[in-house]
Amino acid sequence: MRIGIPRESRPGERLVAASPATVAQLTKLGYDVVVEAGAGAQASFPDDQYAQAGATVGDAAAVWSSDVVTCVNTPPDDRVEQLREGAVLVAMLGPQANPQVAEKLNARGVTALALDAVPRISRAQALDVLSTLSNVAGYRAVIEAAEEYGGMFTGQVTAAGKTAPATVFVIGAGVGGLAAIGAANSLGAQVRAFDVRPEVAEQIESMGGTFVAAPEAQQEVSADGYAKPLTPEQQAAAMEVYAAEAKRADVIITTALVRGKAPTTITADMVATMRPGSVIVDLGAPGGGNCELTVPGKKIVTDNGVVIIGYTDLTSRMPRHTSQLFGTNIVHLMALLTPEKNGELTLDLDDQVQRGMTLSHQGEVLWPPPPVSVS
Ligand code: NAD
Repeated sequence: MRIGIPRESRPGERLVAASPATVAQLTKLGYDVVVEAGAGAQASFPDDQYAQAGATVGDAAAVWSSDVVTCVNTPPDDRVEQLREGAVLVAMLGPQANPQVAEKLNARGVTALALDAVPRISRAQALDVLSTLSNVAGYRAVIEAAEEYGGMFTGQVTAAGKTAPATVFVIGAGVGGLAAIGAANSLGAQVRAFDVRPEVAEQIESMGGTFVAAPEAQQEVSADGYAKPLTPEQQAAAMEVYAAEAKRADVIITTALVRGKAPTTITADMVATMRPGSVIVDLGAPGGGNCELTVPGKKIVTDNGVVIIGYTDLTSRMPRHTSQLFGTNIVHLMALLTPEKNGELTLDLDDQVQRGMTLSHQGEVLWPPPPVSVS
């Protein structure tokens, strides 16, 4: 079978769904690979590197007529029209927010596999693009903060005097928050972190952060690793923690999500208490923001001189490694779908990982999937 890797269509997108290294791995699974000319240019992967890795570099028509098309984002309608009947589309299709996508792709006779619907169970970690993206976004949030912050993250003792290390407060210690803690710690900052899930304390400490314990604001250890909405009492206590930490922080990186939604963690009143030149990076921006003043997609400076970064393209700002890791997630998926390593994709709907991400197959809409049992 032939796998097509297109250029992404979304304006400003710099990612690509395969690197030259992952193309080589796909060919080892027995596939022919065609990469659209220029697909990796923004991620520092020129066409000749893909060719050396065993791909054919072709035009959009060659890519979109492939047996399997793997891309990062949901393709636009004119590209979906180019998919042939029976083709397999692998991409972040956003079925949770937009369930109609399943019907639309089924109407084209396409087998649609949503990378962003991979069940979040241990066995599926290697194909979890959401973890890949959160990890990169957490790292990049620190780089953006360091760029804006007018000082050094590490403390220094020099002949000209001392500078204090920056204090970085991270809210939410999931995949993105832990990456931010590690990156800020490695730059020498003093990192404090809070999560409503108390079980993350050890992970925060292992990344070099200090866990901010506030039992009245924290939930019981969760059964599934995910936060639940806070009770009004917990919410009030959490707000007290954020307010106290905001006053002392040079940088706040907020990553809180509950079932995919971004709760408010930093209010306008809290921002008003922060020192001029301090920085907030809001990883909740794509969902509206954790900070009341965040403008998604933009950097703003408040009247009291606080920089608030609401960029929604943090992963695209690290295109080389994000594409490499994203492409590796796809290789792991294709290995699962190609047990014989013979270049023939077979879908096993009895496997809960494959079933969980399948939106349509052989003329049937299969979204939403049955609940997944945790393993
Ligand atoms: P997430 O993106 O859903 O949420 C980010 C963090 O925000 C979470 O740690 C959450 O507890 C926290 N949070 C929510 N509300 C908050 C508030 N008001 N204040 C402070 N923090 C708040 O999280 P995630 O990165 O998806 O990780 C969640 C869990 O899933 C973790 O236990 C992680 O290890 C696990 N996980 C498992 C897999 C897998 O097994 N395949 C993949 C990814 C994540």
